[in-house]
Amino acid sequence: MRCSKYAYLFRNSPELGDSEAFRNESLKDQGIEVGQLAKQLFPGGHDLASSFSFEEAQSLTAEAMGENTTLFEAAFGNNQLSCRVDILRSESGRVNIYEVKSSTKNRPDYLIELAFQWHTMVASGTTPNDAFLIHINPAYLLSEDKVINPSDFFVTVRLTDEVRAYLPVIREHISGVAALLTETFPPIQLTDSRCRNPYKCPFHDHCHADVTDTNIQYLPSLSIDDVAEYRRRGISDISQLPESKDLSLQQSKVRQVIANGQPHVSPRAKSLIRQLRYPVAFIDFEAANPAIPLIPGMKPYQPLPFQWSCHVLKDPRSEPIHFSFLGLTQTDPRQEFVDLLNETLAEVETIIHYSNYEVTLLNGLKDQGFSVAGDLAARMKSRGCDLHRVLRENIYLKEFKGSFSIKNVLPAMVPSVSYDNLAIGDGLAASAAYLAYRKNPSEVALERTTTDLLEYCRLDTWAMVLLMRRILELTPSQS
Ligand code: SF4
Repeated sequence: MRCSKYAYLFRNSPELGDSEAFRNESLKDQGIEVGQLAKQLFPGGHDLASSFSFEEAQSLTAEAMGENTTLFEAAFGNNQLSCRVDILRSESGRVNIYEVKSSTKNRPDYLIELAFQWHTMVASGTTPNDAFLIHINPAYLLSEDKVINPSDFFVTVRLTDEVRAYLPVIREHISGVAALLTETFPPIQLTDSRCRNPYKCPFHDHCHADVTDTNIQYLPSLSIDDVAEYRRRGISDISQLPESKDLSLQQSKVRQVIANGQPHVSPRAKSLIRQLRYPVAFIDFEAANPAIPLIPGMKPYQPLPFQWSCHVLKDPRSEPIHFSFLGLTQTDPRQEFVDLLNETLAEVETIIHYSNYEVTLLNGLKDQGFSVAGDLAARMKSRGCDLHRVLRENIYLKEFKGSFSIKNVLPAMVPSVSYDNLAIGDGLAASAAYLAYRKNPSEVALERTTTDLLEYCRLDTWAMVLLMRRILELTPSQS
């Protein structure tokens, strides 16, 4: 749960959320697939997941208790509380609960979930004996035959003592949340980076309707605690910040832009762009990070690059030529990915990228045995230009809202272009679309996914062309 306001809105006013974002939340979550695999750890288990209502699942759960049985999505509840238990094993009078997570390590919030389930079960008449977390084994490697043994893929951690110790905290928390959900108005919850991470909250636009571009939360590199501390000191807007040695160089720059009401544009940005040697190529990669690896030898969440886009400018005045690669097949796209990219960049003098993502992916491919990727990474190191860095070090507009993500920077610098109307609007959605196609390939899906992915990735490199041109048009500030 992102915040208490999210809980309130989700329960009382879901129509205020963005239905597309709700859909994306589940799309981007690979937990369902991992959950299915975890069920194989308990062969013969009875699945109450989809074919039963909560009430039906609750009575089936009650009937099965005491027998030697395994239930998936067992249901417990009373008038106030309800929960589903991922896996419940009832054997010889003992009841064990298992929470399945698609992460590769234990995290504090998993303890909260297990403690909530434990508390709810006790409140509805069943006391568990043991609580376990099942998470992905980070060292797992997919074998050549692609057959996954769930016992190798998962790690099971006993958390019974930790859960018991946490029960008093959860009891207090539950009574607070229960009271909150029945209030007439949602709780006051100030917005912060939680609203955007790990991806945009479905209630983002509703909660940000009155948040200005100069809100303190948009000062770069602030943690949630830093934002809260500034607010405690009565500083809710960047314009209220005093000059201070405690601010980083970047934060001081942002403060100055807001105070002066003028963008910051260093002359260095223009000179860096003017020094570029032509032909210039703008490149962008898309990669999927499947929880369950698709290619033998790969680990859970190891990036699998499947697409690139490239715009080439032969000289500063020429029209950009577009090239692209999309490996939307059931096979390993990596060799073709690097070979075609290498061919496309053969005559190019400067390779422009946005952040270090592309170099990191190429170095990863080199380590996986694709030597061409190593050569490309070396070329990018010696003849590359990171446009993200050029912007971060030399330009700031208040509309950036503290972020140099291309999705924020592009509409601020070139207002006529944005990612808003694309079917795929960010890298996570691109990865989800690729994985969804590999899982359920069809002609219709192929056509739609190809169009959406090509359009999205193309805009990433076209955006860089536009940003570079815009930098050359901007008038340097005197600062
Ligand atoms: S947008 Fe932010 S404040 Fe609003 S519900 Fe989501 S996380 Fe909470």
